[in-house]
Amino acid sequence: MQMFVNGARVDAASGATMEVHNPASGEVVDRVPKADADDTRRAIEAAAAAFPAWAKLPPAKRAHVLLRAAASARAHLDEVAQLLTSEQGKPIRDSKIEAQRCVENIEIYAGLVLGGEPSGRHVPLPAQNAIGLVVRRPLGVVGAIIPWNFPLTLLANKIAPAMAVGNTVVAKPASTTPLATLRIAELLHDGGLPAGVLNVVTGPGGVVGEEIIRHPLVRKIGFTGETGTGKQVAKSAADELKHVTLELGGSDAAIVCADADLDLAAKNIAIGRFFNAGQACLAIKRVYVMDEVADALIDKVAARAKRLKLGSGTDASAQMGPLHTDKQRAEIESQLADAVERGGTIVAGGQRPAGEQFGQGYYFEPTVVVDVPAEARVWTEETFGPLLPIMRVKDLDEAIERANASEYGLGSSIFTRDMTAAQRAIDELEAGYTWVNAVQIAHDELPFGGTKHSGYGKEHGTEVLDYYTEQKSVVIAS
Ligand code: NAD
Repeated sequence: MQMFVNGARVDAASGATMEVHNPASGEVVDRVPKADADDTRRAIEAAAAAFPAWAKLPPAKRAHVLLRAAASARAHLDEVAQLLTSEQGKPIRDSKIEAQRCVENIEIYAGLVLGGEPSGRHVPLPAQNAIGLVVRRPLGVVGAIIPWNFPLTLLANKIAPAMAVGNTVVAKPASTTPLATLRIAELLHDGGLPAGVLNVVTGPGGVVGEEIIRHPLVRKIGFTGETGTGKQVAKSAADELKHVTLELGGSDAAIVCADADLDLAAKNIAIGRFFNAGQACLAIKRVYVMDEVADALIDKVAARAKRLKLGSGTDASAQMGPLHTDKQRAEIESQLADAVERGGTIVAGGQRPAGEQFGQGYYFEPTVVVDVPAEARVWTEETFGPLLPIMRVKDLDEAIERANASEYGLGSSIFTRDMTAAQRAIDELEAGYTWVNAVQIAHDELPFGGTKHSGYGKEHGTEVLDYYTEQKSVVIAS
């Protein structure tokens, strides 16, 4: 597949390409251009050229263009989902939901603009015969840099609000997951999105991403990825004082109190840990359970982990696909070995699954490990795969203290029937999100973003519009 720049499919000027592999088989699915800094500059210049006309469109007209473009993509969701499964590895039904959510996001932000968002303010001023206004302006060209775990969701989180309020975009998917993104851009264009409003450049992060971050015409960077990369992004973007949103790594804690509904807790913990083969930023990566109910909870979570059906993403009955790469699987195996060496006990999974159908893919069983000391890597690092440590604690004080003893602050959960305990979790857990007895999914309606080393800025909700517009104060005297 070619890149998508200024409304056309293009190759890298050098002709260089990179392979895209299927994580279930290791086979080459396709090749995409390996762009360099000059290719990236051409895409940025196309976005800058498209900006004035796009920004000047009356908001309702812009919204209708986006709704028509989204309808064009909506007609091809199955095809997009198949591309996503072939490059990412996730089960096809999850890919369908992701493709649909991507299009829905464009519709949601077009709808918000139709409804008058983002609104400004009229401010009464003390001076006679003068009124104050706060108006919003789009920023200009926005760079969207995306990881491989939810390529379409994380693309939509950026491009949907950005385009709706009048910005133009240069997006860079992860090198291993460019295909569904390229196809979505093309479908949006086929549906009437003007050339240059959304450009997709494929290539290495250190080249294409770095050029997007450093180029003076790009006024904002929406970045999702690892904390280490995010820090580098913030440093590079500082030279041009760019707006930056950083959605980074997480190690979300879940607390299970003695009075909790243990079946509900076990179900939501299993979903929260094993969805997308555990490769999610918002994912339950540590569990702290009160002593009195620890054995019962561990049994229930382990039983759910053992029941999950592994399989290739194209197997309609598979609940969990392979890990995205061999490196990703090796990392999980190394974190598990560390936990076991330090005294941990595996109560579910712990192996690569046996069977010919798993031979070529990067599969790993859903794994639960207990009695792991607090210094182990599963507690101190991000665990980006299907591996869950569960720790027994004596009370809520200890649970909250341990939950907060992490450099990350993305999500958090508590399972309890006691509103006082829930209130303490809401007030005291250092995270951008707290779920109470709820399944840990991010809702489009609520702002989402981390604290501490999980980043800054918000996506989703109406709040994201603050991150893709500038506010300008106006005084009108008569
Ligand atoms: P990554 O940081 O390796 O890569 C993310 C993107 O940045 C890719 O497109 C990559 O090519 C690009 N990149 C790499 N180096 C760059 C550089 N120097 N300059 C500019 N761009 C560069 O992350 P990953 O391994 O693809 O994704 C997994 C990580 O993403 C995990 O840590 C996960 O928690 C995090 N994540 C966070 C969220 C969130 O919303 N907070 C969501 C999903 C994933």
